[in-house]
Amino acid sequence: MNLVFFGPPGAGKGTQAKRLVSKLGIPQVSTGEIMRAELKSGSDLGARFESFMSLGKLVPDELVLELIKKRLEADDAANGVIFDGFPRTVGQAKALDGIFGDLNRTLDRVVVLDVPEEDIVERISGRRIAVDGGQEYHIRYNPPPAGVDVKQRADDNEETARKRYQDYKGITEPVLEYYAATGTVVERIVGTGSLDEVSARIETAIGE
Ligand code: AMP
Repeated sequence: MNLVFFGPPGAGKGTQAKRLVSKLGIPQVSTGEIMRAELKSGSDLGARFESFMSLGKLVPDELVLELIKKRLEADDAANGVIFDGFPRTVGQAKALDGIFGDLNRTLDRVVVLDVPEEDIVERISGRRIAVDGGQEYHIRYNPPPAGVDVKQRADDNEETARKRYQDYKGITEPVLEYYAATGTVVERIVGTGSLDEVSARIETAIGE
């Protein structure tokens, strides 16, 4: 099964994708996580993402598509993937259709997690990540246990969160019109509530 988890930054796409990975036996493909790993590794490729990411700007399509093509070649992606944070532009969505066409694969479903802007800003500004292991916490809703060392993503502040949300509305949301026009199934679900509630809605939406 090939799925796209869609929605504003901080909607819970990554968290929910991780919850489904073992159930479906397919990997989560998060362009943001791949880029952060490249940045951390100090690679030349990573250096090309840095200026965009630190300002909360979208990375140019050609760079993103290079990463996606490479990721889809890995053995673990052969039976399907859960894209999280990709596609983010109509250009990326069209390119993904082209890549999938060449590979004889189809995109089964796009699941949209709807979360209002004020919730997004609060979720993003309170998000913390464990230095070891990358487990995500929220200072108010899911505080890190005592002794767990956490850090904040460089782009997780209020100003950047609002910028990322605006780009979502202006640049990313139109991808849904493209999918409506091309007949890809789009399921909208309410992305607020407990993690279990959202997981249950997603499982219903994908027929699991
Ligand atoms: P995320 O982890 O999905 O919130 O992504 C973090 C940042 O990585 C974004 O604000 C962008 O700068 C960049 N990024 C991640 N995925 C994409 C994408 N599909 N297209 C363009 N930029 C992206």
